[in-house]
Amino acid sequence: MKVIEHIRAAKDTLVSFEVLPPLKGKNINSIYNHLDPLMEFKPSFINVTYHRSEQIFKKKMDGTFEKVEVRKRPGTVAICAAIMNHYRVDAVPHLICGGFTRRETEDALIDLNFLGIDNVLVLRGDATKNEASFEAEPMGNRYAIDLLRQVSDLNQGIYLEEDIREGFRTNFCMGVAGYPEKHFEAPNMDTDMAWLKKKVELGADYIVTQMFFDNSKYFSFVDRCRAEGIDVPIIPGLKPLTNKKQLTVIPRTFHVDIPTELSNDIQRCKTDEECEKVGTEWLIAQSKELKKAGVPVLHYYTLGKPRVIYNAVREVF
Ligand code: FAD
Repeated sequence: MKVIEHIRAAKDTLVSFEVLPPLKGKNINSIYNHLDPLMEFKPSFINVTYHRSEQIFKKKMDGTFEKVEVRKRPGTVAICAAIMNHYRVDAVPHLICGGFTRRETEDALIDLNFLGIDNVLVLRGDATKNEASFEAEPMGNRYAIDLLRQVSDLNQGIYLEEDIREGFRTNFCMGVAGYPEKHFEAPNMDTDMAWLKKKVELGADYIVTQMFFDNSKYFSFVDRCRAEGIDVPIIPGLKPLTNKKQLTVIPRTFHVDIPTELSNDIQRCKTDEECEKVGTEWLIAQSKELKKAGVPVLHYYTLGKPRVIYNAVREVF
């Protein structure tokens, strides 16, 4: 079932989770161990992130270096299929532009369709560690909008191979990312909004937000979207703080602010356990307020912290 169908059929706020594929070397049980306790909350769908390969330099026996492509977290598509099979819950693979030619993307979409996966979260992806800024593959998609166009084309039976006439029409429900605190590369919120609106005009069914720790940022973002004529559901993405290091890592990595009250409370903690307690309480308060406001779904970034998410969600649902 599509994410948008879950939302349309719902009478109350739904719950969903996002997981990362395990590090290479671990098996699928690490995903099941992660998700098993969270299944108690009957998530409507589970997102699986995509991680492109990185180039690293490995020292050889003779002292010279060789460049190798390493994918630390492969398996997104297979994990989605495994989740659907194991839990009978819809899975949403993240699909990115980076690292893919358009032909490879088309083949990946065909794989997803054959597996019965009819949801995708359409993203650009970030620059790799060796790139100063994001670089598309030659013959690849540059922006999420371009990828969205490709998925939408396939939904209309339009393939890259021009000699395919009346090709099978896929039926993907397409989600896109939105940034209540602005995407870090956008010169201003107006420009970022204009691109987001374009994504919706091109067929995005819903928006999932970047994490935020201050609900007023989400509410203003939704108001702004509605004023711009963006009328699709806007799903808030939520993540708990669990240690002091995140006070600097999260703003640097995700370009979001941490409210003074929360950062002061975390600073005062003496142990990670205390931080976790503060972070969980904050997440519960955020979730309760959002649920009361009638948001369509509460989407939790579990990022290796299923226990914290469990403790929070149990207080909300
Ligand atoms: P876009 O919508 O392409 O926007 C990127 C920037 O370009 C923005 O500043 C926008 O304003 C601007 N822009 C958009 N279109 C155009 C255009 N046509 N011309 C000029 N400027 C334009 N990354 C991963 O690698 N794997 C994941 O699994 C993953 N999951 C994510 C899940 C969520 C919910 C979110 C919010 C992010 C996720 N990311 C993931 C990170 C994401 O890839 C980055 O935030 C990336 O920098 C932007 O992706 P986007 O889809 O928003 O890009």
